[in-house]
Amino acid sequence: MDDLAYGTRDRRGEWRPNAPIEVAPFWSWPPDLPKILAWIPGYLWPWNAFHLATALVWWYAVVPDRVTLTSLSLDWALRLYAANALGIFLLYGAIELVYYVKRRQGTRFKYNPKFPADQPSDVFWFKSQNLDNFLRSFLVSIPLWTLVEVLFLWTFANGWVPWLSWADHPLWLALLMLLAPAIHEVHFFFIHRAIHWGPLYRWIHSVHHNSINPSPWSSLSMHPVEAFLYHAVALWHLVIPSNPIVALFQLHLAGFGAVNGHIGFERLELGGERTIDPHAYAHYLHHKHFEVNYGGDGLVPLDKWFGTFHDGTPEADARMRARFAEKKARARARSGLATG
Ligand SMILES: [Zn+2]
Ligand SMILES: [Zn+2]
Repeated sequence: MDDLAYGTRDRRGEWRPNAPIEVAPFWSWPPDLPKILAWIPGYLWPWNAFHLATALVWWYAVVPDRVTLTSLSLDWALRLYAANALGIFLLYGAIELVYYVKRRQGTRFKYNPKFPADQPSDVFWFKSQNLDNFLRSFLVSIPLWTLVEVLFLWTFANGWVPWLSWADHPLWLALLMLLAPAIHEVHFFFIHRAIHWGPLYRWIHSVHHNSINPSPWSSLSMHPVEAFLYHAVALWHLVIPSNPIVALFQLHLAGFGAVNGHIGFERLELGGERTIDPHAYAHYLHHKHFEVNYGGDGLVPLDKWFGTFHDGTPEADARMRARFAEKKARARARSGLATG
């Protein structure tokens, strides 16, 4: 496919899409009903449907019965870890293998023309972004994801919080399922914004940002504090009356869904004219510019409301630069006052 029919590549080889990132259409007034209806299929398919499917597979094939869950044991915790690790290995590994190792579509639709494997750097373990990101995912983030999972399953099983049944509360639980991606976006925005505060950034979040040019393995490359807080989104279902399947779906949106923002391609070619949209651009811009797009791509447009939204256009570039210059000037004025 010709990516230049959909975007432009600048002199440094950076590709940017022609179409700006648009926030979810139900936030504009007056409501544009045809646009909202046209947006719904892309909301459900393929990504959220995929996360729901994996959550159901886990629930029926991996999670033990309620009686087993009432007492903590390394036995079922390790079983959950093995399933999570295998799931991530297969999903992230497949994307990495096809688009980053075999490079089946070369740099078509790739925002950054370089591949991390071609750029050794001292900031990474063994100077390798891939190896560093891979090890941090399996040794740090997936164990903490599993810890969150063990905590809520154990809590539900013991009856310490309401375990609503599908038979009695089908509408409420279905609504909660539909809202889960929005809960994810709000939770992620606020923890992410917090760890961008200077001291927390240096201590915690800089680990994730070592990958300026992210690839699939960067997704879960996190400091332990971030890895726990990120997956702790599922614990909201201990506060909201819910059900462990919904909590598991919420957890899979975080764990498996982390890859989307780090795919690095606007479209993944599937053969012929068929492509899949990974929704990668908003978070790619976050890795490139740091202080934009703390949330996702605008399901709940918190970045827009807080003035940090970058929709990928040259106009948004200019707004961002003006904001950074203003921030710098304010910092200079402050330090001038302090020393003067
Ligand atoms: Zn990231
Ligand atoms: Zn960040």
